[in-house]
Amino acid sequence: MLTSECVPLVKTGGLADVAGALPAALAEHGWDMLTLLPAYPSLVEKAAATKVVFTFKDLMGGPARVLMGKAGGNDILLLEAPHLYDRKGGPYGDPTDYPDNPVRFAALSFAAAEIARKGLTDGWTPEVVHAHDWQAGLVPAYLKYGPPCQVGTVMTVHNIAFQGLTPAAMLGTLGLPLSAYTADLLEYWGQISTLKAGLVLADAITTVSPTYAAELMRGEFGMGLEGVVAAKADRLSGVLNGIDTDVWNPETDPEITPYSAKALKGKAQNRKALMAEFGLSKIKGPLAIIVSRLTSQKGMDLIADAAGDFIAAGGGLAILGSGDPVIEDSMRILARNHAGKVGLRIGYDEALSHRMFGGADIVLVPSRFEPCGLTQLYGLRYGTVPVVAATGGLADSVIDANVMALNAGVATGFQFHPIDGMAFRHCLRNVASLFADKPNWTRLQKRGMAQELGWSASSATYATLYESVIREFSSTA
Ligand code: ADP
Repeated sequence: MLTSECVPLVKTGGLADVAGALPAALAEHGWDMLTLLPAYPSLVEKAAATKVVFTFKDLMGGPARVLMGKAGGNDILLLEAPHLYDRKGGPYGDPTDYPDNPVRFAALSFAAAEIARKGLTDGWTPEVVHAHDWQAGLVPAYLKYGPPCQVGTVMTVHNIAFQGLTPAAMLGTLGLPLSAYTADLLEYWGQISTLKAGLVLADAITTVSPTYAAELMRGEFGMGLEGVVAAKADRLSGVLNGIDTDVWNPETDPEITPYSAKALKGKAQNRKALMAEFGLSKIKGPLAIIVSRLTSQKGMDLIADAAGDFIAAGGGLAILGSGDPVIEDSMRILARNHAGKVGLRIGYDEALSHRMFGGADIVLVPSRFEPCGLTQLYGLRYGTVPVVAATGGLADSVIDANVMALNAGVATGFQFHPIDGMAFRHCLRNVASLFADKPNWTRLQKRGMAQELGWSASSATYATLYESVIREFSSTA
C-alpha cells in the first residue's frame, strides 16, 4: 500500500485513518500488507525502522533508501530521501504546499513501482499495489512505462478535488516518456495530472463510498475528471470506510467517563465536563459539536447563518477545527456573539475531539461534498446523533429520521438536502423537536451505537477486489 500519510505516524485527514486501519483488517483475509510512505522527520525513530530493504543511488536528485519498521501494529516501509522529505513543516508544506511536491510524491510512486518490480532485498514482492490519491497516482504509469511487471494496481480516490497538477515541462524530470503526454493518458488541460494517470492506468478504481462513486461521474462532483471516471465505470466501485472501533470506543476511551448503549449515564457526565471545558453555561437544548477542517467543502460557511435559530432556541455549539481564515473569523464572531452558548477552539486536537464526541448530543457534518467522512461514524459510535448533508458517504452511512424511518425503527440520524443554509436550518429545527422527545431520542442514539462501523465488511470487499485484479493479470499474461 502506498500512501502519503498513515496513523499513528502522520495524519492530516481521513486518508491516514484508512491507511492505518486497512492492513490489520485485510490480514484477516490472508493479505500480508506493507505500507510505504515518506520518512518525514522523526518517523524512522517512531517506527523503529532500522532494516534497510531497498536502496536508490539517485532518486530524483539524491540518494534514498527504504527502511522497514512497525507502527500501530502494521508493517511500515519508510522511504528515506532527505532531499525530499527532511523538512520541518507538515507532510505537504509549511504552511502552503512545497513547490516541489510533484517531484516529492512522484519519487514515492517511483519507489513503489521499483519495489513492485524487483522486490525487497529480503525477497518479499507484492502481487498488488494499492495506491491512494494523487500522491500515489503515478504508480501505474511507472509500472506501464518501465520493464514488464506482473503486479496489479488499485487506485483509491479519497477526494477528487486534489488532482496532482504539474506543469507539462516536468514530464522529463518525473521520468515519463513524451508518449504518455496525451489526452487519453496523463495530459489534463495543458498540464499533467497524477490522479488522472492513476485513474486511466490502474487495473481497478475505488472510492470511499458508493454514493461518491456515482457522484464522481457527474459534473458537479467530478471536478473536471468526471469523463475520465465515467469512461472507467466498469472498473469503478465505492467501498465505505470503516473506523477503528478500538480507538473509537465509548466503553474504553480514556478521554471520557465510559458509557455504553445499555448504560448511557456516563454520557451525561461527559456532557457536563464538555460544557465546562468550552464555557457553555447557557444551554437548555441539544449540545452540537463540529470537529472539522473549517473549509467551504465541509459546509462550514453555512454554520454561522444556519445555526442562528438553533442557538436562539437554546441549543449549544462546540467547535474544533482550523482552515480558511475567513471561516475561522466567522466562527470567532459567532462565539463572541453567543458567549455561553458557542465555544470555539481553533486548532487540531485529537484528545479533545474524543471528549467532544463523548459529551455531545449531536455532531454537525454539512459538507457540500464528502467522499466518505469519518466524524458521522464516530458520532454513531458515541451516541452523538449525526446531522449530515445528503451527499457521498454521509448519505450512505446515516439513515434519516423521516417519519417512515422512525416508524420502522431504523433511523440513525438526520440528512438534509439541498445542501444550503435554508435546508440545514430547517433540519436543525426537526433535530431540536425530536431531542425534546426523550424516549425517541434515546432510541435514535442506541440504534446508531448498534451499527456495524468497523472494517470487516469493507476489508472483505477490498480482498475480493485484489483477487480479481490478480486473476485478470494471470488470465491476460
Ligand atoms: P477529511 O479527510 O476530508 O478532512 P474526514 O471526515 O474523512 O475528513 O476525516 C477527518 C479526520 O480528521 C477525522 O478523523 C476527524 O476527527 C479528524 N479531525 C478533523 N479536524 C480535526 C481537529 N481540528 N482536531 C482533531 N481531529 C480532527
